[in-house]
Amino acid sequence: DQVSCLFHTDHHTIFNSSAPMSASRPQTIRLRDYQPPAFLVERIHLRVDLSGGTAQVDATLDLHRNPAADNDAPLRLDAEFLDLESLTLDGAELEPSTLRDEQGTIVLHDVPQRCRVESVSRFDPAANTALSGLYRSGGMFCTQCEAEGFRRITPYPDRPDVLAPFTTTVVADRATCPVLLSNGDCIDRGALDAERHYAVWHDPFPKPSYLFALVAGDLACQEATFVTASGREVALHFYVEPENAGRTEHALAALQRAMRWDETHYGLEYDLDTYMVVAVGDFNMGAMENKGLNVFNTQFVLASPDTATDADYENIEAVIGHEYFHNWTGNRVTCRDWFQLSLKEGLTVFREHQFAEAMGSEAVQRIGQVRLLRTAQFPEDAGPMSHPVRPDSYVEINNFYTATVYAKGAEVIRMYHTLLGDDAFRRGVQRYLQRHDGEAATIEDFLAAMEEAGGLDLQQFALWYTQAGTPRIEVEDHYDAEHNTYTLICRQSLPASPGQPHKDPMHIPLAVGLLGRDGRPLAARRPDESTAHAHTRVLELREPEQHFVFEQCPERPVPSLLRGFSAPVKLHYPYTDDDLGFLLAHDSDPFARWEAGQQLALRVLLDEAQGTPRPDGIERLEEAFRASLEAPDTDPALVAEALTLPGETYLAEQMDVVDPQAIHDARQRVRAILGEALEGHWLILHSQHSGPWHYEPDEVARRRLRNLALGYLNAGSERHLSRALEQLERSDNLTDRLAALAVLADSPRAEAEQAVDAFYQRWSDEPLVVDKWFRTQALADRPDTVYRVHQLTEHPDFTLDNPNRARALLGAFAQGNPAHFHSPDGSGYRLLGEHVLRLDPNNPQLAARLLAPLAQWRRYNASRRHAMREQLERILERDALSKDVYEVASKSLG
Ligand code: ZN
Repeated sequence: DQVSCLFHTDHHTIFNSSAPMSASRPQTIRLRDYQPPAFLVERIHLRVDLSGGTAQVDATLDLHRNPAADNDAPLRLDAEFLDLESLTLDGAELEPSTLRDEQGTIVLHDVPQRCRVESVSRFDPAANTALSGLYRSGGMFCTQCEAEGFRRITPYPDRPDVLAPFTTTVVADRATCPVLLSNGDCIDRGALDAERHYAVWHDPFPKPSYLFALVAGDLACQEATFVTASGREVALHFYVEPENAGRTEHALAALQRAMRWDETHYGLEYDLDTYMVVAVGDFNMGAMENKGLNVFNTQFVLASPDTATDADYENIEAVIGHEYFHNWTGNRVTCRDWFQLSLKEGLTVFREHQFAEAMGSEAVQRIGQVRLLRTAQFPEDAGPMSHPVRPDSYVEINNFYTATVYAKGAEVIRMYHTLLGDDAFRRGVQRYLQRHDGEAATIEDFLAAMEEAGGLDLQQFALWYTQAGTPRIEVEDHYDAEHNTYTLICRQSLPASPGQPHKDPMHIPLAVGLLGRDGRPLAARRPDESTAHAHTRVLELREPEQHFVFEQCPERPVPSLLRGFSAPVKLHYPYTDDDLGFLLAHDSDPFARWEAGQQLALRVLLDEAQGTPRPDGIERLEEAFRASLEAPDTDPALVAEALTLPGETYLAEQMDVVDPQAIHDARQRVRAILGEALEGHWLILHSQHSGPWHYEPDEVARRRLRNLALGYLNAGSERHLSRALEQLERSDNLTDRLAALAVLADSPRAEAEQAVDAFYQRWSDEPLVVDKWFRTQALADRPDTVYRVHQLTEHPDFTLDNPNRARALLGAFAQGNPAHFHSPDGSGYRLLGEHVLRLDPNNPQLAARLLAPLAQWRRYNASRRHAMREQLERILERDALSKDVYEVASKSLG
């Protein structure tokens, strides 16, 4: 959900005559057509006046011809959503309506080598429902410019390879907007007249327009400082609407940890005197790394025990880190074009992961990363929107802020790290940043720096950027007792994907270990090694089939494969259930141990779902659970991971024709059996009451175990409902309350329904808690779930205008509740289709994201396929559909 953004051609006119989408097919943008910009911007001065009913933006651009571009290429200024009042070139007035191409771009021919363009634009921020450009959220004005929002503020070469220093004057009413912010340092401020005041901000670091930001409003501020490694003092300012004052402590401390970590780990210091974070209630994505002025979705910055769960606290630290790390990987070195998006996002997500691993449990973090990859990225990679980490074409760039670009992109970076080792990897990153500081770079630039730092040839590795799909690795083995040699035979293949029928073999790091019969690591010698050893080895797959021989191997080992999930692949090896139980008990790699348990559970659940339960399957699972529950000194957070069954989406991934109901029923049956069989253990776990709430790792793990126990107990028997009621009543924190609420939301009993209502009454003035109330009901398992979700769309607190609210109900339902979204009567699909159409004219970026589950229609049986297609077709019939929704719907059907 973190990955979610927006943009479009809307019903607003672009200088009065935007061509409706139905008239001209939206254009496909291709990487191979990249041309450098004809003109570069030496400096830009903006004056943004928010004091009237509409915003007025005066812009002055000093431009010069780019020596690297064609000599006679025209100057292009992107513009949409705004009314242009005047446009001058070196003081001469132009008539913009005669200069626009079909996209609305202003195209100026025969422009002098150096010139000045001045413009005056107007638009209504309150009418900017797309939340791209400058808009109103609650009582404040704010901006979102990535990817192409700046053109909705002023005409500009709105592309990431045009970098300029910005000077911005913000003008607004003092009473309603006492706080005026933009990027960089505030160099002047004062009164204009009795009502209005102004502030001038200057950002000395040249930046692309997508990193521009402006905020104005009546905001409370929490301040702190950070002293950098070189002794500079940085002021940290967190701005929130007054009702959220006091909720930024956790985010602030997380920022300080992130700043320190980037210094100690990568030697990277912050570069401005102030770092500002603003919390905004209406935001299409998680957060945005604008230079010196991050804008955050409230969900990823505000924390208090009553309004944020433990998971929220963790996400806040991750997203704060992520946006901070962008200051180097994204801002100081940015992207040449949007095809290079993973250059900044994959690298920054990886840095965020490293940070989280350093701050908490490495294995638990890794498990969470792999869960997300498998549930969000693998299905995308196998579906109609499948694209490489570096896409080679798009209709709407906002549709490519995807799990593939972000999460698989981060896995690609992790593989460099695995191949180079930590030291060489770090040197490679530093070399890349030094060499391209202040520039817009490409993925090739990054790869070249890595090749040099590692002394490696990464040309085959580069296929990770261009070939879509999840590689499949089949492993077989062979033990030769006479010669004491053990051989792993690895075959790789990559399925065809849209536009890519044939694939080349990839360069894949496969981390493996060997286990002896006694459960201990088994020593052996690879032909290129001088002695036998038992440590993890990274085998490098490069061919369709490869044999890896281990000599001096005294017995037939059990192989531990893909340790730490060393590559984003699907690995198959014919493990017996006994092998999996053995790895679960003995593997020294905690990730591999967890994985063995998950594979065991997966088998039991899949057999159950397919109506062929394995006779001793549940007993094995029960035994594994019991062992985890009784393990004396295991990290409780790892125990919690082991006791969490594979999710329904991951189970669905394993089936040729997905039956969401059968999967759900199987999982519920197994949960019920485990709930009853281990009731004594669950009761003990659930009764381990901790003291007052703290956000602290052991406490978090204990709450998680306690709430897992509550879930299993209630899966096992209705008798335990009272525990949920009591927990909801007595808890002093949202984590425990929500866990109880989730149990109650499934129950038809009157006291449960009353408790769900009471929760709303109690928290109705806390938007982030109300989101969770909607979400919990969207995820509920009741015979009438679809009807209830439909009813909730008519609840007075439901609105499509707020992305968090829309996602909480519709996103959660369509993505997180497969059994009900896929109701055989098609009612879930209709509900989604209807709301996507309603949302599209206002917020196409969000509409396109919510639509994504329907794209998976090919995975289901004939009647579901038909009903899903029907909704996609219904959507495509709409005139004046946004590019965003058009692209997703048409590619899904194509
Ligand atoms: Zn990012």
